[in-house]
Amino acid sequence: MSAVPSLLLPCPHCASMNRVPRDRLAQAPRCGRCHEALFTGAPVSLTAATFDAHAQRGELPLLVDFWAPWCGPCVSMAPAFAAAATTLEPQLRLAKVDTEAEPALAGRFAIRSIPTLILFAGGREVARHSGAIGMQQIVQWARGNLPTR
Ligand code: ZN
Repeated sequence: MSAVPSLLLPCPHCASMNRVPRDRLAQAPRCGRCHEALFTGAPVSLTAATFDAHAQRGELPLLVDFWAPWCGPCVSMAPAFAAAATTLEPQLRLAKVDTEAEPALAGRFAIRSIPTLILFAGGREVARHSGAIGMQQIVQWARGNLPTR
């Protein structure tokens, strides 16, 4: 239920795991190790080395934009996705995976077209959407697909 007092949150800068009380999520928490802000209002770029910390070990739902620099619709959706981060944090973490730089991650999640949004919660994929959408649609789609707790 919603009585979970704290959750594990990987730092977007140094990837250390932080345990953050839920009632402090919205109070600009900082990393206990590198002292940087745990929420920056911007999507975090993930690699094969950092992906599992956020998608599996981290206890905050994660919304990932699988994209590539050569993909026109991906590039045009980027500002909407970045704006969605400012709205959805700290309820969710938003992240980006460059499928050209990280083909192993693209293969692992069988990304066939980009942009593809995947929502992870509880360490597993709970929803997927392919195709560019606007900021409000991103926010509504993510919130509408969050598991109820
Ligand atoms: Zn840190």
